[in-house]
Amino acid sequence: MPCYAKESIDKYRSQQPHDGLSNVEDTSAAGLNGSPTADERDYRFVEKRELNSLIALLRADAFRVLGPRVEDAAIVYDELESLEDLPQGYVETQSPGRYRIEKGDHENFFQFTVSPNSWKQFLFPARVSLARAKKDRDGWSFAEGDDLQQDADGRREKLAFVGVRACELAAIAIQDRVFLEGPYVDPVYQRRRESTFIVAVNCTTAADTCFCTSTDSGPKCRQGFDLSMTELPHGFLLEAGSQVGGSYLEKLESRPANPSEIESGFRLEQQAVQQIRKQLDTHDLRDLLLNNLDHPHWDQVATRCLSCTNCTMVCPTCFCSSVHDVADLSGDNVERIRQWDSCFNLDFSYTKGGTVRDNTRSRYRQWLTHKLGSWQDQFDSLGCVGCGRCITWCPVGIDLTEEVQAIRVKPTSKRTLSTPVEPAVATCVVKDEDD
Ligand code: SF4
Ligand code: SF4
Repeated sequence: MPCYAKESIDKYRSQQPHDGLSNVEDTSAAGLNGSPTADERDYRFVEKRELNSLIALLRADAFRVLGPRVEDAAIVYDELESLEDLPQGYVETQSPGRYRIEKGDHENFFQFTVSPNSWKQFLFPARVSLARAKKDRDGWSFAEGDDLQQDADGRREKLAFVGVRACELAAIAIQDRVFLEGPYVDPVYQRRRESTFIVAVNCTTAADTCFCTSTDSGPKCRQGFDLSMTELPHGFLLEAGSQVGGSYLEKLESRPANPSEIESGFRLEQQAVQQIRKQLDTHDLRDLLLNNLDHPHWDQVATRCLSCTNCTMVCPTCFCSSVHDVADLSGDNVERIRQWDSCFNLDFSYTKGGTVRDNTRSRYRQWLTHKLGSWQDQFDSLGCVGCGRCITWCPVGIDLTEEVQAIRVKPTSKRTLSTPVEPAVATCVVKDEDD
């Protein structure tokens, strides 16, 4: 059996343009917001119950199948045993500082948008054990932490994500770049990512907080999946995105989708596009933000922001963490733990002698200028995929699209930083005596 993970990641890499802000391939060719004809894509039609067969096949192949389900009055990502676990018939409303779900007047399984948590929690878990140390009569012994170990047969847990949205595929691609493609590869992320099978779902509806059309990351899933689905009232349109996805598709009871089913899928995708009202103007965004570090609007945001860290916790691309050594009461067992951290925490910027960002103004500014500005210098893309989670889950309803607009409408340029800062290079110039 080919390795879906490697194939998936290689495919991702080969398709990443790395030539600007776009973190996904050219949309015009892929038909985003357009209408590819039936022969441009190889769609299969399956009855809704076949999703149950797919879940069963993945479970039989030792995948831990994860997907949306209702818990504590929210749709969250958790273990799926069957189709019954999905939030069938639910609708959601999201707006700044507000999230509600309720039963709607339909029987669809995926008629909502993004969950308060993201797939980040499985690929880059909130708390991982990196190393252990134990003291006995012979002294200290050291071992890798639980999250770096494999079972006795060298196997790793395999993850299957069911119901990944286009913006979430883009977020995973961003985290791939951060954790896999730099000079240092993160082994915890790599092990999980290489064993991940992705079943994407095209959004057919949008929340008031979505703005993926501005960040060019949705709502159509274009790449980075093994299978993708569009939910029609009476079944699913399925498309294979990898060889392994295709091999699962072959095992399902399917038939070629007919033109009216494909047309119906595109209409639903267009419906999602049309429902997106929120916009982030990304033109010249890096320079706009970095040239306005002294803008009075940062003070204005600071009067509202609670520095609660919610926006960074729910964000599918934020990746800050801190590492702590934790000893038990005997002092003989020590564990090195890595856990999510946030640039909104006071001690996150602590260095010897004090905290660099000791007020909310500087912490909010750091978050936004990194996410939308200096991230571009580091990773050649925005750090935002337009999922809207930080808007919904901000307790005071701070909306980054509005904060950017406030700076755009009345920019002030007290300070200029228009080109990326290059690392200093030591040069030694040897001069001829004649010079
Ligand atoms: S910054 Fe906000 S909208 Fe952008 S990816 Fe993060 S949570 Fe989503
Ligand atoms: S912007 Fe909102 S969610 Fe983020 S730290 Fe401030 S109050 Fe919390």
